[in-house]
Amino acid sequence: MSNKTLRTVHELLQHDFITEQEVPSLDKLSQIYAIAISPEMVNLIQTTDDPIGLQYIPHPEEAITHPDELNDPIADEALSPIPGIVHRYEDRVLLKPLLICPVYCRFCFRREQVGPDNGLLSDQQLENALQWIENHSQIQEVILSGGDPFILSPRRMKHIIETLNQIPHVTTIRIHTRVPFSAPSKMTAELIDSLESDKALWVVVHANHPKEFTPAAYQVIKTLIKSGIPLLSQSVLLKNINDDVETLESLLRHFVKWRIKPYYLHQLDKAPGTARFYVSIDKGRQLLSALRGRVTGLAWPTYVLDIPGGHGKVPLGPDYFNPQTPHSVLDPNHKIRQI
Ligand SMILES: *Cc1c(COP(=O)(O)O)cnc(C)c1O
Repeated sequence: MSNKTLRTVHELLQHDFITEQEVPSLDKLSQIYAIAISPEMVNLIQTTDDPIGLQYIPHPEEAITHPDELNDPIADEALSPIPGIVHRYEDRVLLKPLLICPVYCRFCFRREQVGPDNGLLSDQQLENALQWIENHSQIQEVILSGGDPFILSPRRMKHIIETLNQIPHVTTIRIHTRVPFSAPSKMTAELIDSLESDKALWVVVHANHPKEFTPAAYQVIKTLIKSGIPLLSQSVLLKNINDDVETLESLLRHFVKWRIKPYYLHQLDKAPGTARFYVSIDKGRQLLSALRGRVTGLAWPTYVLDIPGGHGKVPLGPDYFNPQTPHSVLDPNHKIRQI
């Protein structure tokens, strides 16, 4: 059993995760996207092209930017008044305590690049971001988002939660994370204790494949639930990982079984180098429609697209209202029914 996070191309080669021939291109790639495969994921990878290997092992094709891929596909930068804050919707705001991805999740639907200092906001920048939230009374919900907030020290997390607790107009805190699945040993009791909050605190966990549901992840999820934290899920629709009905069904059923309510299934953002995971929207809609009626309604996520250019997230259906003929809908088998 490995107990070390792999961080270099050389270590990937030692584990037979890559070939000699791939070394030069991956050396270059690692200048842009940091390498980090947690010990848990190292142990879970059986072959380089299994659903875990595909997600966590860097691939030379990621250096290729296709013409329709954008550096900042959802225009987070344009919507950022100060470092650490992304404000797109009136009532809620993203607080990103890490400016770049710490890559415990390495492959997100939104790629963030390697930077100095692991991308941590400085103490002053964090105070400024929290002050910005205090000064904007329309903000009701603060969403801690990636880089993964659970990479923060318990001390820093506690400070953020305590400060938000004291801002009267903030009613809800939400944390988006992949750490419970991708690096469960990072979820220490101290870190979970730091989430103690007077305000409603929701956690949205990210997993893309049933194989990610390990006993170690289950212990973390159980502890979060015992702490009274409601859990939601997000997943990204990814080619060769979860783009078939059986895998998607199993993934969603695993969430429900673990008391996690499926929230979003994301259409992949067209970030540079992600083409090898691209699934068409048409296929996504077909997959969702194949699940309608087949799985419990509890398992049903909203399939969403973050519109390129920063225009927000919208559901992509499938839809059952029949605009051609008023007073009719499609049933789960696509037969027209009068209503
Ligand atoms: C995704 C996102 C949110 C949260 O959207 P919900 O639909 O409420 O989950 C908020 N702000 C920004 C900038 C986002 O990208």
